Amino acid sequence: METETIVARLKSSGLFQTKGFIGGKWIDAYDGKTIEVNNPATGEVIASVACMGEKETQDAISSAYDAFGHWSKLTAVDRSSRLRKWYNLLIEHKEELGQLITLEQGKPLKEAIGEVLYGAGFIEFYAEEAKRIYGDIIPSPLPDRRLFVLKQPVGVVGAITPWNFPFALITRKVGPALACGCTVVVKPSELTPFTALAVAELALRSGIPPGVLNVVMGDAPKIGNYLLESRQVRKITFTGSIAVGKKLMASAAETVKKVSLELGGNAPFIIFDDADLEVALKASVASKFRNSGQTCVCTNRLLVQEGIYDKFITAFSNAVQNLKVGNGFSEGVSQGPLINEAAVQKVESLVQDAISKGAKVVVGGKRHDLGLTFYEPTVISDAKNEMLIARQEIFGPVAPVIRFKTEEEAIQIANDTDSGLAAYLFTNNIQRSWRVSEALEYGMVGVNEGIYSSEGAPFGGVKQSGLGREGSKYGLDEYLEIKCICMGNMG
Ligand code: ADP
Repeated sequence: METETIVARLKSSGLFQTKGFIGGKWIDAYDGKTIEVNNPATGEVIASVACMGEKETQDAISSAYDAFGHWSKLTAVDRSSRLRKWYNLLIEHKEELGQLITLEQGKPLKEAIGEVLYGAGFIEFYAEEAKRIYGDIIPSPLPDRRLFVLKQPVGVVGAITPWNFPFALITRKVGPALACGCTVVVKPSELTPFTALAVAELALRSGIPPGVLNVVMGDAPKIGNYLLESRQVRKITFTGSIAVGKKLMASAAETVKKVSLELGGNAPFIIFDDADLEVALKASVASKFRNSGQTCVCTNRLLVQEGIYDKFITAFSNAVQNLKVGNGFSEGVSQGPLINEAAVQKVESLVQDAISKGAKVVVGGKRHDLGLTFYEPTVISDAKNEMLIARQEIFGPVAPVIRFKTEEEAIQIANDTDSGLAAYLFTNNIQRSWRVSEALEYGMVGVNEGIYSSEGAPFGGVKQSGLGREGSKYGLDEYLEIKCICMGNMG
């Protein structure tokens, strides 16, 4: 399908927006600047969007700050019902939202619609949780005192999101923020702004008042700096690279903001000799090659025990060879393009490093014949944990497979990284599954399961993979302050 045809159809539904969204209005950059957004599967320019900076961010923050007074004072039931309406609209428009995701991000349409269902789930979940933000009454140390705990919204939130899940990483932040009574300024990735803008349009249609949700994009460091400098912004939530996350965390110190960070991972996928090979095989393909390997919880390193190593490599390679690469709008395609040229170059250099240090390419190993940013799904055997490919986040369709002998060795290799987001292990030994889960220094562990995420499960990492949790009842804490009220003279 042509980019133009898709855009024309999306325009007629009102879901194709190109301006920033401030105080409930669509706004051009004040100096009229725009940036082009490309379709990674064709290289075509989809359209240009407003390229905003400090002044627009300042106005978005002011809108959010003004709206906070009203929004935070609505009853939880009222906020909940508006979130519910928003959820219904997101689901109603899942096809169009999915098309937008495929258009600007490249993932196959089926996977994109899957992202919409998954992402909308956060709005539904937090519409429900909005009504369950309870405080506490604490037994008093003195007879004439009473102690109460109130949970109150932190205030204006700055949310900075990446391109790999242009929809779900916004709803996962905005859902709990709005449920708690916070208001938000979102800065989506400049590579994938259209989905964010469509999400804002549907928020407006669902009765979420102007100023409660704002979207600005353009000069990322400038917008980021302004969000961080502002005393009105009380919380920064970020998903993206470790390098940018560290910068944001350091800058947040100036105004002592609450910070949650979901940074990169280096997920080990450990298969023990006693695993069900069929189960492990299916899960490994899904966990490694989902979104062409461009997710922070994607398997980065497969660790396979020596007894089944060769058998696994053969079966895995056969499965990977059959993955269909192409434009995400084409039927049967499971592997879209990588997001841009820089992403392909990174993958190429990691593969080169692995080969130069003795690893072998079993399948793939080069750019795909389709050209542009398509890369062949790749299996690399004889990988070692010292190779760059096992130390850095690959973010591409390349699976290095490392051989190990003992359980202790597997744990040691798995934990030998600064990251600690997701890990997976496959075994039919129940004691081992518990023992290894406990020993893994990761925020999320899949046992005989390669896809972990859902709105009810806490998502987040340890070590340099981040701070805080998203999704689940724990995700609310990131947007709440605890206030204790001590009442005297109550005897
Ligand atoms: P990725 O490699 O996933 O693109 P980045 O950390 O570069 O990760 O980007 C994630 C988000 O952070 C994007 O919205 C991007 O525009 C934004 N970003 C990048 N650099 C900065 C910065 N210096 N300040 C604030 N936001 C930034």
